[in-house]
Amino acid sequence: MIITWHGERARRHMTNEGHCPRCGAVLELGLHVVRDCSFSRMVWLSVVPENAQSLFFLLPLGDWLLCNLKSSIRWKSEKFEWQSFFSILCWLLWKGRNLFVFSNGHSCVQKLVDTSITWTKSYAKSNSAWPQPNPLVLNTW
Ligand SMILES: [Zn+2]
Repeated sequence: MIITWHGERARRHMTNEGHCPRCGAVLELGLHVVRDCSFSRMVWLSVVPENAQSLFFLLPLGDWLLCNLKSSIRWKSEKFEWQSFFSILCWLLWKGRNLFVFSNGHSCVQKLVDTSITWTKSYAKSNSAWPQPNPLVLNTW
C-alpha cells in the first residue's frame, strides 16, 4: 500500500481535495508535510539553530534533504549527529501526519522532539556497538 499526501492525490485526480488536513494549506505536497506545515514548522523551529532557520526553510526539497543528510554537525551538546536526528524527526513528522489523518491522533511538539532525541541516541549507541568493517579485509575480495 502506498500512502500519498493529499496534494499528490489531487494532482493524480484521485481526489478533489488537495489541502493539508492539518493546517488547511492549499496543496499538501511532500515538503509541506515534513517541513512547511504549521506543526512541522513549530517542530523545526524548536531544534534548528536560529542563525540557520532562514536557509533551512528556503531550500527546495532536493537541496534541503542533501544539506541535512550530509551534515556531520553535532546537535547542541548531544552525542549524535544532526543527519541521524534529522532523518528520525522527518520520519516521526510523517508518522504523526498519518496518525492525524487516519486516526485523528494529535502530536505534541516537545514530545515529538523528545522521542526523536531518544531514538537518535539509541541508534547512535547501537551503531557504535557493532564492530566497524575493516577496509583492509573488504579489499581482499
Ligand atoms: Zn499543513
